[in-house]
Amino acid sequence: MPDLLLRGGRPWGLDAQADVLIRDGVIERVGPDLRADPAAEVADVPGRLLLPGLIDAHCHLDKTLFGGRWVPHSAGPALADRIAEERRRRAELGLPDVEHMTALLQRMVASGTTCVRTHTDVVTDHGLAGVEAVWAAQERLGGRVTIEQVAFPQYGVLADPGTAELLDEALRNGVEVIGGIDPAGVDRDPVRHLDIVFALAERHGAGIDIHLHDGGSLGTWQLELIIERAKATGLGGRVAVSHAYGLAQADQATQDRLGRQLADAGVSLVTAAVYNFPVPPIARLRAAGVTIACGHDGIRDLWSPFGSGDMLERAMHLAYRSTFRRDEEIEMALEAATYGGARALGLQAYGLEPGARADIVVVDASTPAEAVVTHPVRDLVIKAGRVVARQGALIG
Ligand SMILES: [Zn+2]
Repeated sequence: MPDLLLRGGRPWGLDAQADVLIRDGVIERVGPDLRADPAAEVADVPGRLLLPGLIDAHCHLDKTLFGGRWVPHSAGPALADRIAEERRRRAELGLPDVEHMTALLQRMVASGTTCVRTHTDVVTDHGLAGVEAVWAAQERLGGRVTIEQVAFPQYGVLADPGTAELLDEALRNGVEVIGGIDPAGVDRDPVRHLDIVFALAERHGAGIDIHLHDGGSLGTWQLELIIERAKATGLGGRVAVSHAYGLAQADQATQDRLGRQLADAGVSLVTAAVYNFPVPPIARLRAAGVTIACGHDGIRDLWSPFGSGDMLERAMHLAYRSTFRRDEEIEMALEAATYGGARALGLQAYGLEPGARADIVVVDASTPAEAVVTHPVRDLVIKAGRVVARQGALIG
């Protein structure tokens, strides 16, 4: 692969214009007036903002209907309604569908997403079919995006007997992360649920990412159980909790106390900021040292007809739901969609510094906040040093 020189852009975090020289998929140098080898590819990006590749830290590729015919939403209003409706209609709609997943991943890449964590259903109804389908879609993307799967017990671990064995098999087969879901609300036995999830993570050296929708003190109590286990097992830096509605609903003193404990244990939070679902107070949690990541959750599926695959747009929703108005506040939402996601996922060599993997998004915006608010068409998307999208369309 020839060197790639991005000329005249403004990397996020630098106050000045700087060229970026990329060699062998890695950022080699950042600075003014860099010279490139005559064989290098040169892309002029005068005055454009350069961001590190966007990270969708929570989605469900295996559920998506993206790119297919419109399917009117048919589930009732409760979480249990959506679980039951999906279980009823999955086969009829041919899910998981590699075509739909591929279409969504292509849209994500064209929007600047270079890394995705997807929660894949691992359930007794269809075993590891979702995991295999995501791998098939990943193959079709040909390295344009990094995909990490979470083996996700959508119907519970204890409530759907046989699931623990399937989770074990998924991790043995190479799935990187183990999920969980409402240890109390779905499985009605948080201690056993968490014991199983943490034991599997330890056995396979996997990360952990638990859906925690349970609200109020039931939710914060389970968060404490997760923090305790993260510390006891030493898995801290590899544990994430998605949603954490109970934390969002707690009083400020409880939020501050749990914020300190999350930071101390190295447990990350992932939020999607969809509908009116509670969003943890990201500014205060970040100040306490908590890693905050962001994702779409469901995109065009039986859970939600919404979602575009664009993480700048998702960051806008997070900023809006957080009542952020000032640039430095809005940048916190972008941080969740970039550096925060990278920390939560444990990505190495992420960013815009020399030595980082060259995952870069070029966007026409005067500031990062403007990029979030207007989320314009991405001028260029670079994955590991290779231009993979230009002007919002996939190439190469
Ligand atoms: Zn989810």
